Amino acid sequence: MRSETDIVPLDKRTPGVQAIEPLIFPVLEAVYTRREKRLRLLAEQLGEAEGGYFKFLSYLVEAQQILKHMPLGAADVSAIRAVPKQGCDQDHLEKLLLEIPSWQQAFLFLVQQVGCVVPETTRTMLEKCGQDIPDLTKQAASLLCGEYAQVDAGVAVILWAALSVCWAQAVEQDQKHIQQEQLVGEARVCPCCGAQPVASLVLGGDREGLRYLQCSLCETRWHRVRSICVECGASAHLEHWVFEDLKAPVQIESCGDCKTYLKVLRLDYDPELDALADDLGSFALDTAVEQQGFARAGLNPFSFPG
Ligand SMILES: [Zn+2]
Ligand SMILES: [Zn+2]
Repeated sequence: MRSETDIVPLDKRTPGVQAIEPLIFPVLEAVYTRREKRLRLLAEQLGEAEGGYFKFLSYLVEAQQILKHMPLGAADVSAIRAVPKQGCDQDHLEKLLLEIPSWQQAFLFLVQQVGCVVPETTRTMLEKCGQDIPDLTKQAASLLCGEYAQVDAGVAVILWAALSVCWAQAVEQDQKHIQQEQLVGEARVCPCCGAQPVASLVLGGDREGLRYLQCSLCETRWHRVRSICVECGASAHLEHWVFEDLKAPVQIESCGDCKTYLKVLRLDYDPELDALADDLGSFALDTAVEQQGFARAGLNPFSFPG
């Protein structure tokens, strides 16, 4: 059976050795289809009861997929692409976000869609959040600035999902204007939007063995050479962690220099993996590595730190 991939194969019509692409842009339809499938499968494998977290996330991703069918207007694409990638002052960011209606509407839509699978009190709280746009904007700016503790954990997951579907669509709709050649390098954060990676992906197929980082916000993948630490660039004390099976598709790479770790998803071993779902689904591995004194690098927007 052909695997449902969202990573488009290389163009075979170009002869000779292929250059490594700095970026692989998201094909959102396929990203959401696969993520939802993985979340449902993990819910089943974990024996999750109705109302469990993986099932809730699968509804959330299903709702993002519906939003994907409502393309952003040109003004919102430009406004999102103009948001500074890094170093933006939170007050200034708030002003910019207030002028972008698409993510606000996306939040309201997502709350409406998942309302039937969350407890009544949560639904009421989320609806209240959606009615106070200035406060919701403040929370969105906090999330984008990495101030996760400022935002209620239940709101944060849905709010990030709303921002993410808009940021990812903006990249998808604007990708012909993104200059690939200017983005080659050793970026620790996403060259398209400045967000942190969820995990490393080691690709298979015609990109066999190449490592890309998956963006937690706009879903773009960017290339980084293997055998260096994603966080600090050191290479002397990297270790790979697995439970028993050396060919396990979900692994951890830790760095003894900066004492951080990041999940590595071996798509060359299992092309069906999804960064967000399978990172969350392998939390036992995180616990084992954190007990050895390593701290998590990157961000999984299904599980905010703190
Ligand atoms: Zn990004
Ligand atoms: Zn390091």
